[in-house]
Amino acid sequence: MGADIRAKSAREAAEKAAREADRAEAKAWSVRMEGYGGPAQPSPTIAQCLRGGLGWLEVECNRCKARASLPLDAIRRPRDTPIWKLEASLKCRSCRKGRSAPPVRMIKLTGAREITPYRWVHPEEER
Ligand SMILES: [Zn+2]
Repeated sequence: MGADIRAKSAREAAEKAAREADRAEAKAWSVRMEGYGGPAQPSPTIAQCLRGGLGWLEVECNRCKARASLPLDAIRRPRDTPIWKLEASLKCRSCRKGRSAPPVRMIKLTGAREITPYRWVHPEEER
């Protein structure tokens, strides 16, 4: 019985440590992007950001400068996808013309939506 409890608390401690490590990594990436504009690679994965409690990605359109907060848990990509790989598939709806669109810049990760909803083209709308 005692061994079970010890194993359980050790596992909980390990999970907490993993969450904290994910948060630290996501936070460091976010600070680098916001403060220095990158480099975007390497970056944490979608799963790491979500586990670390930073589930929102703030992006800015390079052309019209509109910003949006995107919920990472709604992006239908494998959870082990690095965040930087999303950049190429994010497009500003108001600037998009057919298949071409100006590039989007990733700003930072946040724990909650910080910007009013804005209609963007999310990766899952592409095939
Ligand atoms: Zn735009």
